[in-house]
Amino acid sequence: MSRIYYTKPSITELEVKYATDAAANGWGDQCYAYIEKFERGFAKHLGTAYAIATSSCTGAMHMGLAALGVGRGDEVILADINWIATVSPVVHLGATPVLVDILPDTWCLDPEKVEAAITSRTKVIIATHIYGSLCEMDRLLEIGRRHGIPVIEDAAEALGSVYRGKRAGSIGAFGTFSFHGTKTLTTGEGGMFVTNDPALYERVLTLSNHGRARGETRQFWSERVGFKYKMSNIQAAIGCAQLERIEELVEKKRHIFALYKVALAPLASVTRMNVEHAGTTNSYWMPTLVFDQQAGLDRDALLRMFKEENIDGRVFFWPLSKLGVEGVPTDVDTPVAHSVSPRAINLPSYHDMGEVEVERVATVLTNFHDR
Ligand SMILES: *Cc1c(COP(=O)(O)O)cnc(C)c1O
Repeated sequence: MSRIYYTKPSITELEVKYATDAAANGWGDQCYAYIEKFERGFAKHLGTAYAIATSSCTGAMHMGLAALGVGRGDEVILADINWIATVSPVVHLGATPVLVDILPDTWCLDPEKVEAAITSRTKVIIATHIYGSLCEMDRLLEIGRRHGIPVIEDAAEALGSVYRGKRAGSIGAFGTFSFHGTKTLTTGEGGMFVTNDPALYERVLTLSNHGRARGETRQFWSERVGFKYKMSNIQAAIGCAQLERIEELVEKKRHIFALYKVALAPLASVTRMNVEHAGTTNSYWMPTLVFDQQAGLDRDALLRMFKEENIDGRVFFWPLSKLGVEGVPTDVDTPVAHSVSPRAINLPSYHDMGEVEVERVATVLTNFHDR
């Protein structure tokens, strides 16, 4: 039985053509051509004024937070449910992560908990749109405005998601994206920083170029210590091809989720799948199941059954506070995060999955459910 991967990029002749062209011709005066095209195209797609291609989302976040002045003594509020990449730059910059609880339906930041966590040291609020679900941006922005604190978006998992007519990542002071091989649009490794703020754009541009400002006429002259988180032209070539196919890539994710929704509807123990509230579009990066608390799910046994059937399954993100890593607080009050995490899994959703594969996954879940 063929393996059902949890994710796998959708690569066509177009990606191969552009990458080949970049490898053959993308040098000398053409060495930034695909990068510039990818940045322009991405900003246009998102509806932001500026975009800077990076080597990862982590790098984009690191530079964005640095450009906002995050440093020692500052606090940064984010959800306890997050991939570690979101908190790492906060720790690297010497700031203190403040982990707050999530909402039970979107698994994103609980605005009330955010407001309660604000102190005189709060510098930034990071809104991560987890698994394609959207944070309550209007409420977060309103809280941010009232306290004079910028809200930024980690939209690594939400390319294609839309909140009240605005694309995820284009709403806050800045947004970041990942093009890692598991993401909806991939360049292998890669990321993007986006913003509508010209001053912030200039600061990140300078940071991303080892602190060398755009207008600087002296060669090799840095005005400050910066970063080196650049995307290569070859990666950007693949990104350009993927971007031309973005509607298709997102539509495929939504189609897979719809198939799951139908196939899993009879399972009484599933309390929740990814939600799509009125006024939003969910790009369903990862179809996710949360099992009923009473069902007493043996998640390890379920994942073993998946493995026996040659199907990938993955556990929901752990609360960051549970990891016990240096720089990340462990003593936090986040009951929803701790309740949801152990009884939730992500299902396979590579773009070319069809009804047959979804049925195979659903059969395992049904058999497990009926044991
Ligand atoms: C994948 C991911 C990242 C990290 O992306 P990289 O490109 O690997 O740095 C950050 N945040 C979230 C929410 C992610 O899912």
